[in-house]
Amino acid sequence: MCGIIGVFNHKGAAELAALGMFAEQHRGQESCGMAVSDGKVFTLRKKMGLVKQVFTPEILGKMKGKVAIGHVRYPTKGSATAYNSQPHTVESLYGATYALASNGDVVNYYEVKEELERKGVYFNSENDGELILKYIIYQIQAEGMTIVEAIKSMMKKIKGAYSTVLATPDKLYMIRDPYAIRPMVWGKMKNGTVIVASESCALDIIGVENRLEVPPAGIIEVSERDIKIFENDPNDYRFYPEERHCIFELIYFSRPDSFHFDENVYEVRKKIGAMLALKDDVQPDVVVPVPDSANFMAVGYANQKNCYFSMGLIRNHYVGRTFIKPEQSSRDESVSQKFSTLPNFFTGKKVVLVDDSIVRGTTIKQIVNMIRKAGAAEIHLRIGSPAVKNSCYYGIDTPNATELIANQKSLEEIRDYAGADSLKHIELEDLLKCVKTNEYCHACFSGVYPIKLG
Ligand code: AMP
Repeated sequence: MCGIIGVFNHKGAAELAALGMFAEQHRGQESCGMAVSDGKVFTLRKKMGLVKQVFTPEILGKMKGKVAIGHVRYPTKGSATAYNSQPHTVESLYGATYALASNGDVVNYYEVKEELERKGVYFNSENDGELILKYIIYQIQAEGMTIVEAIKSMMKKIKGAYSTVLATPDKLYMIRDPYAIRPMVWGKMKNGTVIVASESCALDIIGVENRLEVPPAGIIEVSERDIKIFENDPNDYRFYPEERHCIFELIYFSRPDSFHFDENVYEVRKKIGAMLALKDDVQPDVVVPVPDSANFMAVGYANQKNCYFSMGLIRNHYVGRTFIKPEQSSRDESVSQKFSTLPNFFTGKKVVLVDDSIVRGTTIKQIVNMIRKAGAAEIHLRIGSPAVKNSCYYGIDTPNATELIANQKSLEEIRDYAGADSLKHIELEDLLKCVKTNEYCHACFSGVYPIKLG
């Protein structure tokens, strides 16, 4: 999972891009990067680390130009190294003249990469953003296409999820896959500067006045002269009648103050919590979320049941992502450093503990253990997503199916493994009642993949 940002036509483009990247830091904390155009070529900086560490005021002061694109990375395809970070650039005789950053995952990556390599295209990374860029450039340079024709050709060829921003020194292109799997919004500031981002929270902090979705299979070309929107054209692409937004963005990934696909993220989470409560006959002494992603689900649950809500777990925000640690032992250790219980809070209480998801089972097992040790009488787990039984190939870093606990164990076995008194997930049909349309990808729960793999 990653976050993207694009800024067009602002003399402080780098500063604005850094602000947007900071708002999207939750989407990727491994590395970050930015390319800024001075009107002729791009200056590129990308490094392992957080936005505030990599883009200090001194560094930003040197990144002059009116067009900037940025990226925060949480590795899915390709290892966590600086060379797999984004943006990617393509050099001409004068310097870098194209820069691209993408969020998503390409499912036919190896096939297309090998095809381009056979034609003599060279790759510097194992990252799908570079594949998208090199494919487009090949169509322009070897096949003589215009940039828009080349993007359309890429959309026919490359399959998967991509919310992509491509910049030339004087133009910005927003590109979104036909299923619009990953989020992508854009808008204008009062002074006319155009901003595109993964999440609306980035538009808000920059001061964008409106918020529009980049259409599915859409290309938006922004220049000083105008903004051209090329929508899904049945003559150009296979016609896709329905969108398939990632429902896990609403459950876990996105910031609660963002809007996605016309949904207010925190409201959806509250509805999920209320739905869990409606289907539950337990009457708890207290409802406690696993912070932070389950906070609003627990609020929704407590409101629906009219019962006591409290933060009983404290999260140390300086512990990074436990989920993506390579070894189980380091994941276990990180969870125990990340959460602690409030003293004298749980003693003798019947607790409903709400979490957004169970993937490997690492987090929930340790937390239940902690709450037990803190003296809880009963612990009832309520999970705001259906059981995660299948891997995601479109940008959420769910592990191999055999590592997913729900793929390997029954519900009762998971309850026992976690050491809880009861365990319930929201059912998929109830989850879909919490959102406005059915146009969601829920392959990780249902196994129904909108894009064929391989
Ligand atoms: P696990 O400990 O493996 O069961 O992971 C579940 C926990 O990790 C949940 O509490 C989520 O908040 C979080 N989580 C779920 N999916 C992801 C993901 N793709 N990347 C990072 N964290 C995640």
